[in-house]
Amino acid sequence: MNSILQQPALEIENPNYNDIAVCVVCGGICTPTVPSALSGDVQGRDWMHPWLVKAETGYLERRRDAKYARSSRCQEADPIKLFEVLKFRGGGGGFNLRGGESVKIDTSDVEMYIPIHYACFGLAERFCQFRTSCDFNFIKFSRRSNQYRVPSRIGHFYEIWMQRARMTEPGSKGVLHSPIRERKSYLGVMFATRLEVYNAYIDHGRLGTPVQEADPSANKMRTTLIILSRLVRLDKRSGMPSPEYRTLRHVMESHLPGEIKEMIFDKLEPFHNLSHRQLACTRVLLPEWWMDELLSGRLIPWLFDIDKSYLFIVDLRFRTERPGEHFDINNDLDWELLCRQLGQRRLFEPGDILFGVKELENRWHIWCLLDNALLESGFPVGRLF
Ligand SMILES: [Zn+2]
Repeated sequence: MNSILQQPALEIENPNYNDIAVCVVCGGICTPTVPSALSGDVQGRDWMHPWLVKAETGYLERRRDAKYARSSRCQEADPIKLFEVLKFRGGGGGFNLRGGESVKIDTSDVEMYIPIHYACFGLAERFCQFRTSCDFNFIKFSRRSNQYRVPSRIGHFYEIWMQRARMTEPGSKGVLHSPIRERKSYLGVMFATRLEVYNAYIDHGRLGTPVQEADPSANKMRTTLIILSRLVRLDKRSGMPSPEYRTLRHVMESHLPGEIKEMIFDKLEPFHNLSHRQLACTRVLLPEWWMDELLSGRLIPWLFDIDKSYLFIVDLRFRTERPGEHFDINNDLDWELLCRQLGQRRLFEPGDILFGVKELENRWHIWCLLDNALLESGFPVGRLF
């Protein structure tokens, strides 16, 4: 594509083609579909193509209505829609939807369009499945208590995203010319308002794909093979619990009612932020239990796309290592150690279990951003200030 010849005409038609719009979840740029200052490398990353998210008309008004919030209607599916952008000409005003309609990121809209990556919307939905506790009146209680500002549905996230969009250029009303920001600053994300600046950072900043550009979307084969490649054989000498835990295991297996066991197991989930001390395996629970918890996504929710159907590759790998030796994938691998390693605070630094896996590192970043998202108190969602 000869961008030198095309750019002058483009500038006349749309002077904002190098203005940046960022995804409201991850802060990563949305890639224009027209020639721009963006390097070819980044343009080839399809997952960074923009989509738009918007609530149905009247949604925010209904959310503010106390009667509505108390009624059973608040249990209905979140009326938040995703819109496919076919053409993006840069900046807050450059979106053409499927069907030809041209829309803008406009803070004067009661329910505004907000840019997002498709993968990030999917992660937000996954995150909501994980955080299922329903806060009955998100807005009402939001102003009173931190506890109730925590989003658990896409509708709640939409309100937080709207709030961020309106706080980006406080006091001004209309098409948003700056990327939507987050007051506490995104974790490790490069922020710029012009693609030339962003491009210079990408070109000169780092070797390979920067983490913020690595595709975080669900990818069953990729995630499964990466995670399961970290499995090691269970050292049979350390496969039994220490004496104090042996007693506990005996009590659990023979005396505890099933529902009490379930309560204990529930307390283990999710497995995250473990300290180094918690890396030590107790062996109270059998390897098969850890395997099931990991593969189901219950224990480590952000690794939701591990797929059991690829287990045969693990089986083959270990059988090939020691031909003829008995091998049982459920009992002969150290699933507990793997789960504990994946539940550590540090996962991606040199020497950590997922060092260098940028796709998962970016997903982890995004999961943390979703986990930290709160409705700001004192900043109304539905009105300008
Ligand atoms: Zn994103």
